[in-house]
Amino acid sequence: MNDFLNLCRDAVGAAHVLTAEADVAPYLTDWRRRFTGKALAVVKPASPEEVAAIVRLCSQFRVPIVPQGGNTGMVLGSVPDASGTSIVLSLTRLNRIRGIDTVNNTMTVEAGCVLETIQNAAADAGRLFPLSLAAEGSCTIGGNLSTNAGGVAVLRYGNTRELCLGLEVVTPQGDIWSGLKGLRKDNTGYDLRDLFIGAEGTLGVITAAVLKLFPQPKAKLTALAALETPDDALRLLSIAQARCGATLTAFELMSEICLHLVTKHFPQIRLPFAQHYPQYVLLELSDSESEEHATAMLEGLIEEALEQGCIVDAVVASSIAQSNALWNLREHISMAQAAEGKNIKHDISVPISRIGEFIRITDVALQDAFPGCRMVTFGHLGDGNLHYNVSPPENGSDEEFIRHQEAINRVVHDSVDRFGGSISAEHGLGALKRDEVRRYKSETEMALMWTLKQAIDPLGIMNPGKVI
Ligand SMILES: Cc1cc2nc3c(=O)[nH]c(=O)nc-3n(C[C@H](O)[C@H](O)[C@H](O)COP(=O)(O)OP(=O)(O)OC[C@H]3O[C@@H](n4cnc5c(N)ncnc54)[C@H](O)[C@@H]3O)c2cc1C
Repeated sequence: MNDFLNLCRDAVGAAHVLTAEADVAPYLTDWRRRFTGKALAVVKPASPEEVAAIVRLCSQFRVPIVPQGGNTGMVLGSVPDASGTSIVLSLTRLNRIRGIDTVNNTMTVEAGCVLETIQNAAADAGRLFPLSLAAEGSCTIGGNLSTNAGGVAVLRYGNTRELCLGLEVVTPQGDIWSGLKGLRKDNTGYDLRDLFIGAEGTLGVITAAVLKLFPQPKAKLTALAALETPDDALRLLSIAQARCGATLTAFELMSEICLHLVTKHFPQIRLPFAQHYPQYVLLELSDSESEEHATAMLEGLIEEALEQGCIVDAVVASSIAQSNALWNLREHISMAQAAEGKNIKHDISVPISRIGEFIRITDVALQDAFPGCRMVTFGHLGDGNLHYNVSPPENGSDEEFIRHQEAINRVVHDSVDRFGGSISAEHGLGALKRDEVRRYKSETEMALMWTLKQAIDPLGIMNPGKVI
């Protein structure tokens, strides 16, 4: 392997081929610190040509490639396995914004650009790039595209797939496919772009993308509503959609325990109500007219929801600081749950209309099987996507609880399947859910996926052991 590593050094410079234990360590453990793999080296190219050169070497020496962006993924997709035979291909040096076209409303960016940098560059050009998630300060657009990330604005703007007009990709043979035309219409055969989006690095390496930009809203208003049940949240969603249409940009459900854990582990974050309620909805309006227009719309919505009895209380943020404080509640849930101890995460989706029934039935099934377990349920209700996370009973043993992971997954995922849902709404499959998904996909679906994988990556060097 020395020949291989020396050729990698020739291709990208010796300083960008990391092999010392301390240098590679940060790239080997996943964000949740659940798994640490091994790698031959971490290679950090700085251009598509350098990526292509490394991929060609990997193909020649049959070295598996694990593409990595910000390493914030939740499903062990971006870390190598324990064999030590693969390289981690870090894309973080491909971080140029290649251009912004405010007439075409697009921007062309390299895969290693951090999401927040892209949002800021769009804002500086007077535009909005709406993809937004709690990891935006460290995740990269290449990772977002490869996982088809969702986030908090899917309701209005769609998943990352909907925000992308074109890709540049290095194929497993080391060729560069440039599909960066930025067209809104192009029906000239199979949609290669859509193939690579959501492929989690198993079909090629994304090196650049053309992203859609939108007008900046004139006003943004955030409110937190208190409710009794998830079904009430669905009624509120219907009213909000009927009254606000596309102005409604976020609709997040959080159960009482979520905010209890946030205020317990982050005491500086306060609940803006004098008492606790069983459920909360954080909603945001992004208005293209004016602050007054947005305020009137939000007040009308809250009034109607109170009249119809689907909410019991509500607060509206009257400043950016207050809006940030409300969003802080939502964005600290994962960290608060982690601070509470180990938990078992489920990133599921079901048809929006069935969410209330899904929560009721699955909660009962889990309580019957694992008395005292705590369902820390929150998520993007407006997209039918819940983070249905399960924590051990209060004062219960983490280790004992985690031993039941497979049985708990079975209860939750079988329930998701019965409700016609998906066991991975936005995080992907990675290595974590690769085997699990086979239970729920048909043979035909799996066979089609295999056919694609083998046709595009016949040597199987792209992120082996992930997805399929
Ligand atoms: C606090 C927190 C909140 C989150 N919230 C959300 C959320 O709301 N919605 C959501 O969808 N996700 C969320 N995530 C998950 C994660 O942030 C996303 O999956 C994100 O898109 C991953 O980007 P990344 O750059 O970190 O990719 P990585 O973790 O580095 O990689 C993810 C996958 O993409 C592949 N990959 C990375 N870059 C490339 C490339 N250039 N070419 C080919 N393959 C590549 C990797 O091999 C891996 O399979 C959250 C994570 C955290 C830590």
